[in-house]
Amino acid sequence: MKLTMLGTGHAGVTKCYNTCFILEDAGKYFLVDAGGGNTLLKQLQRVNISLDNIHDIFITHRHLDHLTGALWILRRLFSQIKSGRSNGEYRFYAHDEVIRLLLQFSEGLFPESASDCIGKGIDFIEVRDQETRKIIGHDVTFFDIHSTKARQFGFRMDLDGKKDKEFPETSAEQYVRENQRCLLSSGSSADPCCREDRKSVKTERNPDSNGSGRRLVCFGDEPCTEETMHNAEGCTWMLHEAFCLYEDRDRYKPYEKHHSTVKDACQAAEKLGIRNLVLYHTEDDDLPSRKKRYTKEGEQYFSGNLYVPEDLETLELG
Ligand SMILES: [Zn+2]
Repeated sequence: MKLTMLGTGHAGVTKCYNTCFILEDAGKYFLVDAGGGNTLLKQLQRVNISLDNIHDIFITHRHLDHLTGALWILRRLFSQIKSGRSNGEYRFYAHDEVIRLLLQFSEGLFPESASDCIGKGIDFIEVRDQETRKIIGHDVTFFDIHSTKARQFGFRMDLDGKKDKEFPETSAEQYVRENQRCLLSSGSSADPCCREDRKSVKTERNPDSNGSGRRLVCFGDEPCTEETMHNAEGCTWMLHEAFCLYEDRDRYKPYEKHHSTVKDACQAAEKLGIRNLVLYHTEDDDLPSRKKRYTKEGEQYFSGNLYVPEDLETLELG
């Protein structure tokens, strides 16, 4: 399985593209979010992936920086289907609110195409909290991240072709179950259980390909919380937003926007026993030094493999 970041920035970036990415396995592609415009098409071209070959697309929530690139995909697909150049079926997955918007936009902007193509080559598929679908040959379980801004779903994906329920409980999962209250509090809570020494909080790393299988979890563009962290249990890869460095929190004010810092994301991943953490949805004020600066801060709090990808960077999910 390969992960290609098409964009790594937050909604307001101008020097990189908004966060969206592709998971690729055996020549099949799963696009997660579409960014805020037709730069999506340019990014796909630059990584040599044809839109014709992306048959599965998931939109996490309705915000412009995630949803509106999908309208450019639809525009292209409508035109291909109408001219008889379609390359099979295309499926858009999202929760009900996003599906409604995709329908409204399609009917409002492309009325003839919408009636000719939706349900006839293009399917809008509503997914529910904890619903599992087989996508590019892997089980993908969608979950509600309980956003207070706009309803948003993340997902968990098996990387080895196992069904979600086939994964045995790991020591990290037991730990999470027993310590739900204080995990992710970043030590700031007055709760006495959060004042433990970091060493005693640290879990053993989740299993890898030699163990019980590998899973990836994506929390969309908001932090995992006490309520949603169980979705990361047993996962070897975590995709998590990091709006800015902790040391820059007063400048960017991530908490006012329901975002986290590199330090927060790394502490959460460490406590959950994640092996590989990918940070995205960042500010872009100094992109040339972002990887170095973010890695330096993150390494103080996370001892697994930390990735701060650039736009168009590819990672092998080994
Ligand atoms: Zn966003």
